[in-house]
Amino acid sequence: MKRDRAFLINLIKNSKLFVIKIGSAVITKDDQGLNYEVLSNLAYELQRFKREDKRIVVVSSGAIACGRAKLNFLKKPLSLSEKQALAALGQADLIHAYEEVFSKYQLKVAQILLTSEDLSTRTRYINAKKTIQTLLNWGIIPIINENDTVATEEIRFSDNDILSALVAIALPAETLFILSDIDSLYQEDPRVNPRAERISLVEEVTEEIFRMAGKKPGKLGRGGMYSKILAAKMVTTSGIPMAILPGKLPLVFERFFSNEDIGTVFLPQERKLPLRKIWIQYYLKPEGKLILDQGAIRAILKEGKSLLIGGITAVEGDFTKGACVECLSQEGRILAKGLINFSSEELRKFLLEGHRPYKEVIHRDNLVLI
Ligand code: GLU
Repeated sequence: MKRDRAFLINLIKNSKLFVIKIGSAVITKDDQGLNYEVLSNLAYELQRFKREDKRIVVVSSGAIACGRAKLNFLKKPLSLSEKQALAALGQADLIHAYEEVFSKYQLKVAQILLTSEDLSTRTRYINAKKTIQTLLNWGIIPIINENDTVATEEIRFSDNDILSALVAIALPAETLFILSDIDSLYQEDPRVNPRAERISLVEEVTEEIFRMAGKKPGKLGRGGMYSKILAAKMVTTSGIPMAILPGKLPLVFERFFSNEDIGTVFLPQERKLPLRKIWIQYYLKPEGKLILDQGAIRAILKEGKSLLIGGITAVEGDFTKGACVECLSQEGRILAKGLINFSSEELRKFLLEGHRPYKEVIHRDNLVLI
């Protein structure tokens, strides 16, 4: 069967579990608080999904924008503690609005706030997943946001696009929708070139697609198109399709499912990495670096081997056994990421003593090539 847009829409139609990410610029009006029209429209459409027995998880931004509107706090840029304080203030309003609007459509919601540590520590990740699944079994829509109040730079997801991709892979969901104020991916940034051509279907997320996305963040949210493409890369290589849709368009899902040519859809790829490697690649933050010699680089990149002590020329950072580390070339190019069998202290001792026992530092099964 031809893997075109109609094929993909049909595949998505039959999905039973959707993750829907809503950006700040969609759910709020410029510095004026929540956009109730968008929320009502969403509730109306989700109620129809529920009748078709679909399960829905919402990842919603908007806490900081709500807090800002509540205090009429117009200062820009915001410091980290201002953002965190505004998020604490605004998250209450955000969830209250979901509760109020969704209840009119007989939809029940629950709030889940996550930091990246909650998804990178295995026990916490399993716990969060079980909680989400229990809520879904009860017919409740979890509304997830980053726990901005406690998320410092080190434990922060880069933005909610990435959070929604991680949630979709973790559950796993069958489709990820990103509702955005920029309605689709374009050949160039449409804010710079209004005549840029819209991309309707992405068969594979390549370097060229990343280039089209550019690096400019959105007006209110943190991510911009680049992080949406990164999210697409993450989910599609995990076998999950994704669609970017114009979040403010009334009846956006109805239009999408009746084959109206809106947004950009991304075809899923066959999943090449086992879940364990996806976990290492996307969930774990590296705590240190290993610099490799040419022999080790060839062994891991070309010969599919594990990394041995003999191939390491330097160790950076402090980490314990089992931590996630990056492997780099002498020139600083990141080559791989994996779980280490020794602490940084043990490794440095081996290097200092010139004593190189024939031992695996990172086993092949725990190593992901970048
Ligand atoms: N968590 C932030 C908020 O609720 C949004 C982060 C983002 O825009 O990606 O305001």
